[in-house]
Amino acid sequence: MKIPQHKIDEIKQAADIVEVVGQYVNIRLRGRNHVGLCPFHNEKTPSFTVSADKQIFYCFGCHTGGDVIAFVREFEKLSYPEAIRFLAEKYAIEMPRETDMDPSKSSEVESLYFAYKMAARYYFEQLRGPAGKLAREYLSKRGFEDSTLKSFGVGYAPDLWEAFVAHAHEQSMDLTVLEKAGLIMKKSDGSHYDRFRHRVIFPIFNTTGRVIAFGGRQLREEQNMPKYVNSPESPIYHKSRTLYGLFQARDTVRKNDQLIVVEGYADCLMLHQHGLTQTVASSGTAFTLDQATLIKRYTQNVTLVYDGDSAGIHAAERGGAIMIQSGLQTKIVVLPASHDPDSFIRENGRDGFEEVLKQGRSYIDFRVEQWHRQKKLDTVHGRTQAARELIQIVGGIRDPIQSSYYAAEVSDKLRLDEKLVQQELQRVGKGRDSSSIELTTPAKKYIPREDSSPQHVLQAERGVLRNLLMKGSEQADLIFNHLRPEDFTNRAIQKVMQFIFTQWMMKEEFSSNTVLESFPEDIQKALTRLMLDDLLQYEIVDCLATIQYHQLQKRLAELRETMKNMSDLQEDAEHLEEASSQIIRQMHVLKTKKQLLTLGEQPVQERMELDDHHVPF
Ligand SMILES: [Zn+2]
Repeated sequence: MKIPQHKIDEIKQAADIVEVVGQYVNIRLRGRNHVGLCPFHNEKTPSFTVSADKQIFYCFGCHTGGDVIAFVREFEKLSYPEAIRFLAEKYAIEMPRETDMDPSKSSEVESLYFAYKMAARYYFEQLRGPAGKLAREYLSKRGFEDSTLKSFGVGYAPDLWEAFVAHAHEQSMDLTVLEKAGLIMKKSDGSHYDRFRHRVIFPIFNTTGRVIAFGGRQLREEQNMPKYVNSPESPIYHKSRTLYGLFQARDTVRKNDQLIVVEGYADCLMLHQHGLTQTVASSGTAFTLDQATLIKRYTQNVTLVYDGDSAGIHAAERGGAIMIQSGLQTKIVVLPASHDPDSFIRENGRDGFEEVLKQGRSYIDFRVEQWHRQKKLDTVHGRTQAARELIQIVGGIRDPIQSSYYAAEVSDKLRLDEKLVQQELQRVGKGRDSSSIELTTPAKKYIPREDSSPQHVLQAERGVLRNLLMKGSEQADLIFNHLRPEDFTNRAIQKVMQFIFTQWMMKEEFSSNTVLESFPEDIQKALTRLMLDDLLQYEIVDCLATIQYHQLQKRLAELRETMKNMSDLQEDAEHLEEASSQIIRQMHVLKTKKQLLTLGEQPVQERMELDDHHVPF
């Protein structure tokens, strides 16, 4: 049974998009729309727009858009039916029960969620049953209280090769799904065995509280066996976009506007147990920009607390760099050698831990301190090297204000001339075109060419410009909430739009006269002609829609091109997968967006041919 349309309508009625988005994103009213920083890509100036009238959102930066359900899907990483249920729950709308729905219709994603839910339950029960005795003893010896273990759903995988396989058989679960989920593995004779054996199981939740993966810690030292075994990546689990404990931590993080990042599962649990419930774990993987972006949904303030050993320091160096580059206010705490957060808080209690949190240093400070200890800054060579390394990192900060702030800190701490640091920073910036920081944003090489757009698009562009010139500032809000100057394909129109846009941004009134005065004769002529052209009285919404639609068509072509090039290159498989899933998401958005347009593909009514090829537009 599908979710009935009237239910979907009821939900869309109840769930006001401004209200829903406002719970996740800081948006404020500008003109008719709300705008804010896009939660789906890294940006410094707001291009994320929510329309209360149309009940849609759209980002002019990354082109994500759609209705309230699309927003929840994208933000919470849910399937369509999940997003509907999510909203139904929020707005207390009764839904047909899941069991009433046809399971064969549920997606692969749903079946993976289901497999993990079953497995999590199984492991949880095993920890509490007779098989879990050793694991229980181990956990209690390490100081974990049962309530902590419960809130993190900690479980145990028995010391057998086929315990979970047998359980799955009993429950008549689909073994191919379990295999795909990475819970069981296939032998050459076609039979299966458990991935997790004799391990403490730490379920990894997504931000809506669904189990998407497991981390398993070994209970017995064995040769050739890793201390930790983790679930493989799957359609529901992307390691680089997940933070362990974020589901349990997120309310406190929002409330305190602060997040603590530790490395291990045990560290995370122990800090929660002591009341520091704003803690997450990077769980042994190198910190990623995607994780930083995830954090930014909840807070801007992060403290990294790492072990005092060399591995911990190295992790703090790398993790901290990514955090400051993504614009997070970052502090670094390095615990005394021989301590990890788990042992430290058990020895010193919450107060002791909060004391070291207060001593957190800025990233630059932390790095300089490390170098001092290693006596690296005693030589000219060492200092130059240190400066280069920091400038390289600071050069990756997108926000120019933050970047110059950090640059000043570098020159201060390393006692270098500030001008020199700035110079070096600029030099670094120039060679940075294809730096790693760009990996999270989709390739966007959109170069408007003259004569590349069909006649009806040019007409729509002229229509918008005319409208703006005739009606002045009052029309600017509407137009610039939908389009940016670079969205116009005609170069001359683009230039004029850029001028008007700047006026609008600076809240300057403008008139057709101020516009005319600012351009050379050929453009002046074209502008005057445009204003006098009474045949060009199209509805402004039609014009906007036509331009946007054309934009999307182009974007689609670009995406296809990118995909083609990528399969040619055969780069590192993980990147390919990442990028293509991003492309597929965006393609889906394109489809949604098409339905939102009032005009669709119909060209704006054709009008008189341009009589002169030398006219700029
Ligand atoms: Zn965006």
